[in-house]
Amino acid sequence: MLKPLIAGNWKMNTTVHQGVDLVIKLRELLKGADPDEVEVVLAPPFTSIHHISHIIADSHIRLCGQNLHWEKGGAYTGEVSADMLISVGCRYVIIGHSERRELFKETDEMVNKKVLAALKAGLRPIICVGETLDERELGKTISKVQLQIKKALSGLAGGALKDIAIAYEPIWAIGTGRTATPQMAEEVHNALRELLFELYDTDSVKSTRVIYGGSVKPDNIDSLMAQPNIDGALVGGASLKAEDFARIVKFRHL
Ligand code: PEP
Repeated sequence: MLKPLIAGNWKMNTTVHQGVDLVIKLRELLKGADPDEVEVVLAPPFTSIHHISHIIADSHIRLCGQNLHWEKGGAYTGEVSADMLISVGCRYVIIGHSERRELFKETDEMVNKKVLAALKAGLRPIICVGETLDERELGKTISKVQLQIKKALSGLAGGALKDIAIAYEPIWAIGTGRTATPQMAEEVHNALRELLFELYDTDSVKSTRVIYGGSVKPDNIDSLMAQPNIDGALVGGASLKAEDFARIVKFRHL
């Protein structure tokens, strides 16, 4: 059984002070949570990561970048490298979030370069895939997400899969309050795992977490986590409220 991964993506929210306040509250609320039961990851804005790393130093909360550049350094104004993320305490990085793909024109090829660079540096990628509402209505969901994953993992050996999480995030469900039903999510997670079985050996695939994102809230986390192929959640809006995120982390086994 894979240890569930619950990750909070704060996006472009919180100043340093707001972020520190949020993490102090969260650390208190999560004090009783068993680190063997669930892995908790936070992706604050780059500007807060260093401060927050001190606050969570004695906790089981792990840090995550929201993005990275595949080059090690150089003339790339505004970008951040894998080594820079590691230097402020990150162990994870979100790659290919739909907001990056849609608003900043990130391609599957760029996502692949980022995945390879992150792994090479020792960061664990959380790779996001998902369909638009049009694609879902046209019956293209499975083919879209499978192709995104095939391209994201291009050139990757099976041994690396244990360090990767795939986040299925239907674009129509992100920040909209509309969630995929647990059955809808399970169908896509299962299809993603089937693709991995076609590409890699069984042990490697069994070590890969496939998590769900898209309006995850305290009132839907339990039924999502009850699905056999949902290994955790990527949480946007609700991760900005300490009580809500803590309840999501402490999801109940149905
Ligand atoms: C996200 O940003 O990855 C996300 C799932 O956001 P929300 O939970 O707000 O839908």
